[in-house]
Amino acid sequence: MGKKRVHLDNYKKENKQKVFNAILEAGKISRTNIAKQTSLSSASVTLIVDELINEKYIKEIGTSASTGGRSQKLLGVDRAMGRIISFLINDYYIFAGSVTASLEVENVVIRNIKHLPTEDILNVIVEVFNQFKKNSDIYSASIGVKSPEFFKNTRVSISTSVSADFITVDEALRFMLGVPVIIERGVNFAALGEAHNSIQKKNIYFLDLDGEIQLGGVPSLPVEHVAHMKVGDEGKICSCGKVGCLNTFVSSEKIIENLKSELKEPNLTWHLISEAYPDGSSNVSEAIHKVSHYLGKGIVNISTLLRPSLFILGGDISKLDKIFEEKVEQSVRNFGYYDLNDLEVRLSRTGKNAFFVGGAKMFLLNVFKL
Ligand SMILES: [Zn+2]
Repeated sequence: MGKKRVHLDNYKKENKQKVFNAILEAGKISRTNIAKQTSLSSASVTLIVDELINEKYIKEIGTSASTGGRSQKLLGVDRAMGRIISFLINDYYIFAGSVTASLEVENVVIRNIKHLPTEDILNVIVEVFNQFKKNSDIYSASIGVKSPEFFKNTRVSISTSVSADFITVDEALRFMLGVPVIIERGVNFAALGEAHNSIQKKNIYFLDLDGEIQLGGVPSLPVEHVAHMKVGDEGKICSCGKVGCLNTFVSSEKIIENLKSELKEPNLTWHLISEAYPDGSSNVSEAIHKVSHYLGKGIVNISTLLRPSLFILGGDISKLDKIFEEKVEQSVRNFGYYDLNDLEVRLSRTGKNAFFVGGAKMFLLNVFKL
């Protein structure tokens, strides 16, 4: 008896999630279209929609223009749900953005955390969270890191009014923030955030070139080591001790490093590069073309296995323009099997917002299953 009950509850939760996700994805949608998209009966949709309205997850936000027939009430996410705070943590900074339930980024803050111990990083998260909390209700927190399992299971000493205890970061954050928390790979957030603004919704990959490069995707990818994929027999020795790793040619840090020494310009910045690059005759553009050559190789290696429909490049490199996109695509055509001829490569145009939107969306897409 008990077992069957659990099973039914899961089924109900799943349908509720399906309906909610259809609304989240569409922005505005009628009950009829929800039924079409979810393959649920209109009776089930009506029941679930009523429940979601009562619980303040969604609300009626207008009517569709009537085309002959009856105009229909449209449903959208209820912003009264509160904000979701998305954090992105790397070795140097915490970026945090408050995102509404309808996935608009409102405010962003950045904190330096270089060389801080984990306990102090958690305190920065709590401080930022509380700052956002002054202005609005916070529904949940999404935290994007490089290695979620490692981060979650790191043990920290947290002193409470009762005692000081060693607990995991995962437990500590839930306790300190008092809202549901998800901890995921930041690059998977970014891929989901990019997908939210694209026509393509699936098989999207996001290569973050800042720091040690990482690959994220929709659907989410587990931790990988794309940074050390071999794309040559030349170049500088990588942190892994070998030569020819993708990271030594295309990570933001290495691009600058290589350009500074090649061009003997110790003060080169991404800003200067992005200004000099479009002038095709400059020595900067020649050096950056080399980057596109290796990037193309890396993208081909990844895509031969994963078959993306859209490949997005994020990080400082996104300051470059259309010419660079075309160069990378050219390189993909040169190295790739003909099946990759229609693979679209694009520079991210949303900056860190892709991470914030993706973090919030990943939470919402699973809100009834967590
Ligand atoms: Zn390496």
